[in-house]
Amino acid sequence: MDNKKLHVINLLPHIYELEDMVAFCNNYSRVYIYGTGHNQEYLLKYFDMCDIKIEGFVVTDLSRDIPDWVYRKMPIKDVFTVMSEEGSGIIVALPDRYYNNVIPRFREKGFTDYFIMSEHNKNAIAGQVRPRLKEEMAFEVSLADHCNLSCQMCDHYSQLSKPNFLNLAQFEKDIARLGELYDHKIGYISLLGGEPTLNKDIIKIIKLTRSQFPDSQLIILTNGVLLNSWETAPEGNLWEALRENKVHITVTVYPINLDYEAIEKKAAEYGVSINMSSNIHAKKSTKNVKISDKHTMKPDKSIDKFYCVNCLYYNKFNVLKNGRIYMCPVAAHSDIFNSAFNQNLELTENDSIDIYKINSWEEIAEFSSRYIPFCSYCDLKHWGRYSEWKASTKKIEEYI
Ligand code: SF4
Ligand code: SF4
Repeated sequence: MDNKKLHVINLLPHIYELEDMVAFCNNYSRVYIYGTGHNQEYLLKYFDMCDIKIEGFVVTDLSRDIPDWVYRKMPIKDVFTVMSEEGSGIIVALPDRYYNNVIPRFREKGFTDYFIMSEHNKNAIAGQVRPRLKEEMAFEVSLADHCNLSCQMCDHYSQLSKPNFLNLAQFEKDIARLGELYDHKIGYISLLGGEPTLNKDIIKIIKLTRSQFPDSQLIILTNGVLLNSWETAPEGNLWEALRENKVHITVTVYPINLDYEAIEKKAAEYGVSINMSSNIHAKKSTKNVKISDKHTMKPDKSIDKFYCVNCLYYNKFNVLKNGRIYMCPVAAHSDIFNSAFNQNLELTENDSIDIYKINSWEEIAEFSSRYIPFCSYCDLKHWGRYSEWKASTKKIEEYI
């Protein structure tokens, strides 16, 4: 996988269209999906996740459309039968190129109970709920929950964390277990924090990770502040360890007094692959003014399930923590949010998966492609770019 694309976020469905589609479904006692391809089956999976009952699939010609099931079987009916059923609504999920075959049939019969999905949402929903292939999968590990910077709205709550380092003995066990589950092959692993270079065991952690995953991409995600001082650290020369273990560095560029050119030069001197960007999710590196995103939470857990696929972390940024894989850093580090703001965001058994109770990486892929209860805390409609980077006020208003 190309280093520059590792953090590029998934295609996210249009959130207002999700709302309209769910409202449409709630108006009908019998809802059908038009089409029987993979995208339509993944749409069924999405509706199952959201507790929206689907009666079956609709096709134009029953003799022609034989599905190749990838999710679950459902009854298939021809469109004329469904149009004549009382209380039926049809979600038109076929690719756009079929519209000229479909819409005239509705018009001829005076049938208006249908919802036309945009091509974007058909692809984006299917893309979000499709279990990932092994080479697309990834997880991150927090080497230090705390940080030497204090950014507003940090999505790992690091500016709020007490000093807390990765437990090396637990990590050694966990990374060996994941090596076994993934047969030592995965897309990429991010070592981050907080600030990972605060952890004096960082070289040991890199070596342990590399020994379990010899060919996977390894990335250190850092603010870069301590990078150059690690050249002469008593624990060893981090730059040499990065080169020897083929670790890529991504430095987030902040408007702080730091010699970024010196870091780039050091990387070149040691032959270490580096990317410096003020937006690590951008397709191309950028040194534009750093903008902070706000990840608004609803501590009353009132967000409807159907919004979850609109999240950039969903089915993308899994976290390894104490023998479990969490969907995302927001859930995994919610204990920091709770303790900083005296809140009680609840993590249930279903918000993570115990890596010692599963038998294959496919169970992680399936877990990661489904709604988790913690998603109902995330007010995704009010997530997004908020303001130029600032130091944190450490107040809950940065998150609600
Ligand atoms: S540097 Fe990164 S981890 Fe540290 S507080 Fe800022 S956003 Fe959070
Ligand atoms: S818990 Fe929140 S941040 Fe995590 S995947 Fe769900 S919606 Fe996204």
